[in-house]
Amino acid sequence: MSEKKIPYTESKLYRIRHSATHVMAEAVLEFFPEAKLAIGPPIADGYYYDFDLGKNENGKPITFSDEDLEKIEARMKKLLKKNAKFIQSSMSIAEAEQFFADEPYKLELIADLAAGRLDENGEPTAEAVTEVSIYTQHEFVDLCRGPHVGFTKQVRANAVKLLRTSGAYWRGDENRPQLQRIYGTAWENKEELAAYLERLEEAKKRDHRRVGKELDLFSSSPEVGSGLTLWHPKGGLIRHLAEEFCKNEHITHGYDLVYSPHIGRSTLWETSGHLTWYKDDMYSAIKIDEDEYYLKPMNCPFHIMIYKNKMHSYRDLPLRMAEWGTVYRYERSGVLHGLMRVRGFTQDDAHLFCRKDQMPEEIDRALNFCLHILRSFGMNKFHAYLSTRDEKKSAGDKERWHEPTEALRDALERANLEYDIDEGGAAFYGPKIDLKMIDALGREWQLSTIQFDFNLPERFDMTYIGQDGEPHRPYMIHRALLGSMERFMGVLIEHYAGAFPLWLSPVQVEMIPIADRHTPYADKIAEQLREAGLRVDVDSSSERMNKKIRNAQLQKTPYMLVVGDREKENNEIAVRTRENKNMGAMSVDAFKERALAIIADKGLNL
Ligand SMILES: [Zn+2]
Ligand SMILES: [Zn+2]
Repeated sequence: MSEKKIPYTESKLYRIRHSATHVMAEAVLEFFPEAKLAIGPPIADGYYYDFDLGKNENGKPITFSDEDLEKIEARMKKLLKKNAKFIQSSMSIAEAEQFFADEPYKLELIADLAAGRLDENGEPTAEAVTEVSIYTQHEFVDLCRGPHVGFTKQVRANAVKLLRTSGAYWRGDENRPQLQRIYGTAWENKEELAAYLERLEEAKKRDHRRVGKELDLFSSSPEVGSGLTLWHPKGGLIRHLAEEFCKNEHITHGYDLVYSPHIGRSTLWETSGHLTWYKDDMYSAIKIDEDEYYLKPMNCPFHIMIYKNKMHSYRDLPLRMAEWGTVYRYERSGVLHGLMRVRGFTQDDAHLFCRKDQMPEEIDRALNFCLHILRSFGMNKFHAYLSTRDEKKSAGDKERWHEPTEALRDALERANLEYDIDEGGAAFYGPKIDLKMIDALGREWQLSTIQFDFNLPERFDMTYIGQDGEPHRPYMIHRALLGSMERFMGVLIEHYAGAFPLWLSPVQVEMIPIADRHTPYADKIAEQLREAGLRVDVDSSSERMNKKIRNAQLQKTPYMLVVGDREKENNEIAVRTRENKNMGAMSVDAFKERALAIIADKGLNL
């Protein structure tokens, strides 16, 4: 169990950032007195504030320029140094409506607060209020429940920075007005700010969209459609290697591999309930003959149909059905992001069907298998989340939830994983574990899920015949390890900044002949290495040697084998790595042995 840490919302940084965003809004109003205020919450690593700046003469929303941002930041720093007090007060709903009469967005927020729909930050709330909380610094007054620092000076002027602007729809709804958002960051001191800005820079360099282009791994095209990925030869090879490894591991770990179609009849999705509770995330029906078919958003109903194809006895269980199933889900175009958020993706999906007495062991197995697979990709730091029952969503089901929830918790404890509990965070159909990978920059990426489902076995009336000769309901567990192959590849790219482990590198060795006359020798060695199973390219271009080395390093090719007169004469190669380490001359056999051993171990060091 992880040690108790203060939630972000109660931390000093949260108060610093919340206060910074108020002072930023104050500065904005000095330059744009007509701006209407929307919301300005702290977020991870910073804060933003949304403004409506009105429209220009062409009817387009007025936006912030880079110069505006500089001016606002400079003014914000001056205001911080003035050391105004953050003063809390309250207003009745009527008073607040009068005070914010010129602020249409604040009026909407006040109405939502009064009705107990949404809070000041636009998050759902169930609490209807009769009074609203107000914060004031200098002349700036905001509808706000805090918390803030005491005085503006407690936000250090040299530890704040405005980062960028973007358009954002009010309430995230493209039918509502487009607002202008300013993102900023604030830290306790200037050293922390500098470290953060460095991390941002590093993250930019690792951005999978950028690296994907530089290494020619994948693309998407408006002609194909948003959120649909094209895998290029090198990206396709990495994906193939990852999938091949995982599929074989599944087979040796007691899974059955199955395949199912991309579309299914509406009757299937009616039985599964998807057409009732998931329709907004599905694409429109396709008419075939007299029936309607849907692109699958999930693989589960197909695996259930495989299960139901015959009678099962208690002796058949557990069953573990795995499929690299490509699913399609509707995502708003505004949230699509590289490989991380797409409309078509392939899950490494599996469904476990087991008896009650087998359930704890199945959970243990699933979690350990998951860790084994992720570690094979060099991912070693994790943060787990256990989502438990929500009183409201699954009323009257307390008994049924207890054991599976405890089984998940026990498995986390036994695996010695750090985890947090998301109390009431589970879907209505069962508790789950989410496993996030912590990458080289300390960022968390959601990958694996182990999810109980009490709903689908009921809906499909799944049974097995028990030892007592009576029909029983099996437990059903959904689990995905890498999650989606698209997203996983994105994470892999960002984690390694494109410098993949040797076993996954599309080109493992670049042969670099120093002059044209060395090319036949380079070709001969390439052939020997290929016969041993290594992926080798020969750079026979007319570039200078240093340029060839540089090019291979830019492509993150693990090894460069330089060959010239001396190497040829001694029947050797000069080995360099992508980190520019010169390993000196080596016999071909010694190199081969070394590389193959690293590949077999899935080693990270060259
Ligand atoms: Zn506030
Ligand atoms: Zn499923």
